[in-house]
Amino acid sequence: MKVLVINCGSSSLKYQLIDMTNEVALAKGLCERIGIEGSRIKHTPQDKETIIKDIPMKNHTVAVQLVIDALTNEEHGVIKNMDEIAAVGHRVVHGGESFSSSVLITDEVKQAIEDCIELAPLHNPANLIGINACEELMPNTPMVAVFDTAFHQTMPVKSYLYAIPYEMYKKYKVRKYGFHGTSHKYVAYRTAEILGKPVEELKTIVCHLGNGASICAVKNGKSMDTSMGFTPLEGLVMGTRSGDIDPAVISYLSEKEKLNIEEIMDILNKKSGILGLSQVSSDFRDVESAMKQGNTEAQAAMDVFEYRVAKYIGAYAASMNGVDAIVFTAGLGENNGEARKNICSYLGYLGVEVDDEKNDCHGIERDFSKDGAKVRSLVVPTNEELMIARETKELLKK
Ligand code: ADP
Repeated sequence: MKVLVINCGSSSLKYQLIDMTNEVALAKGLCERIGIEGSRIKHTPQDKETIIKDIPMKNHTVAVQLVIDALTNEEHGVIKNMDEIAAVGHRVVHGGESFSSSVLITDEVKQAIEDCIELAPLHNPANLIGINACEELMPNTPMVAVFDTAFHQTMPVKSYLYAIPYEMYKKYKVRKYGFHGTSHKYVAYRTAEILGKPVEELKTIVCHLGNGASICAVKNGKSMDTSMGFTPLEGLVMGTRSGDIDPAVISYLSEKEKLNIEEIMDILNKKSGILGLSQVSSDFRDVESAMKQGNTEAQAAMDVFEYRVAKYIGAYAASMNGVDAIVFTAGLGENNGEARKNICSYLGYLGVEVDDEKNDCHGIERDFSKDGAKVRSLVVPTNEELMIARETKELLKK
């Protein structure tokens, strides 16, 4: 059974075709600059060179057609025709309180995704466009929606309520939703496999540290708490996002800088975080090189980032009354041993002990704890596409 996974942005479309008999990605690719000048498709069949084609794509339907053409192409295709695609799994960012698991897409589901647009104005419209484009070209293929928020719907009330007047929650659904759920779930379940224990018996803290970053307390296979909130702005310091700040800063800066709320939010979302503090870049690699050349702002940016991660780990260990494994994933988490080590250096009191030699690894699965350490520290590369394909397959079986 082959599942096509689609992750649609406002001007981009990422895809993977996964063979679910062995969970191998037969091809992956990306359509960029959809609807604007200079659009191109990058298509990489398994074990072959990437093919890049500059082709105008006036909308997402054209992009999906090009994806199908690439997948079925005689030379660099991986299937004979599109009938081989058993189902399409779509990443959808926000499912609000309506979805606590993945679902087969129907008109009612699409309406519910539309109803969540207010909660994710940048993402949900693009996700819907992707779904509609696929439906147009593959009207008989089942479509599944896999939500970033669904895994976190198990959070207890005490985790998701903000201490603002309760009617604000009732009227406007202002609460913590959390994001990166597909990644947190994949990593927590994979960690259990690596440790050879049932996920139902583990307390895991997953640190998804990429350009966007969030952390999740997973107890017995369920999300108990997570650092992103009503929007992906809350929590950790990120590439360009501030993460947690005192909300009073907003009105204070608005008055001092004569900026409206929208402009302040733009600063907090796009000009803060690692970029804002270091004044070098939003990319951790650039900040690291600046740090090595003695740039003190870059050093401070990394210090603030690592300290915040360690504080959240401490909080989540308390919230679960213990922790068995701390797991690092995503761009920085999978690749930056120095940052992992610095974060773990705050956690000796929990029983975290790093083996420096084992920690010297990039992008591979690895338990890098010292032998006999009470709490295991691991790197587990995330695979959101595979998780989406698995959920799609599961739903189809039902
Ligand atoms: P997102 O999916 O949120 O865009 P990623 O998970 O791709 O983010 O992570 C991007 C971040 O990971 C970048 O800031 C980058 O610097 C960092 N990163 C990626 N590869 C490496 C590496 N080899 N060493 C250090 N940092 C890395």
